[in-house]
Amino acid sequence: MIDAKRDFDRSLEELLAGGIVKSGEKIIDPCFYCGESTAFGYGKFINRVGYIDNDFNGWACAECAGYECRVCEEQIYLDEDLRWSDDLSHCHEECLSEEQNQIITMFFELGGDWELPYDDAEAWFTDVIKAVS
Ligand SMILES: [Zn+2]
Ligand SMILES: [Zn+2]
Repeated sequence: MIDAKRDFDRSLEELLAGGIVKSGEKIIDPCFYCGESTAFGYGKFINRVGYIDNDFNGWACAECAGYECRVCEEQIYLDEDLRWSDDLSHCHEECLSEEQNQIITMFFELGGDWELPYDDAEAWFTDVIKAVS
């Protein structure tokens, strides 16, 4: 008797463990930057983004698709960067001071650069300080 269920479970397990990638076969949906698979079950599926560049038409994983931090120069997870000023346009939350984080939070609570006539939290805060002093 052929145990189809067991065969299925084994292929699923191999798939989830990256067996297909390790065996040297074609990588499914590779990330444009790191080349790792962004297919479901490979750990980089969540938040992957479509990426088109010349003849590449595929995906980028969220670890690679974000901006480089202006403070530590490490890659920031997609959309988790914070903008403090022109110079510090993309930063990790932990690479800014606690005060800067608080000011950024206040800035966004007031509508951020959508509703306020400021490009960033620093410009807004500089004006606030001028107004109260
Ligand atoms: Zn990647
Ligand atoms: Zn950083």
